[in-house]
Amino acid sequence: MVNDRKIFLDRLLLSVGCSLVIICLFSIFVIFLIGSIIHMLFVAVTALYIRRKRSNRFAFSNKTKRRERQIMATEDRKLKYICLLCASEVFDRSCKSCGSHMKKPVF
Ligand SMILES: [Zn+2]
Repeated sequence: MVNDRKIFLDRLLLSVGCSLVIICLFSIFVIFLIGSIIHMLFVAVTALYIRRKRSNRFAFSNKTKRRERQIMATEDRKLKYICLLCASEVFDRSCKSCGSHMKKPVF
């Protein structure tokens, strides 16, 4: 009778201990998994946010730079002509000051 009770208590203690160990290991593993997933999501969201903010800032500066470059290009693309007789700048077919048609481009 006493021996049966001791065996029962031993088995009970063994089963409770095993279940406690299994529950602890499972919870640690699940908490670690959930924590690592949350950490990765946080890092990814932060990286995307920083990248988007930087790209917006760079896009603005690129746009202004491109516009400045366009203005410079259009100003550079215009050919300037000077009159061969009076050396004044010619905008039309003939010189406004002397009326000559002879002009040469200035690069
Ligand atoms: Zn002229």
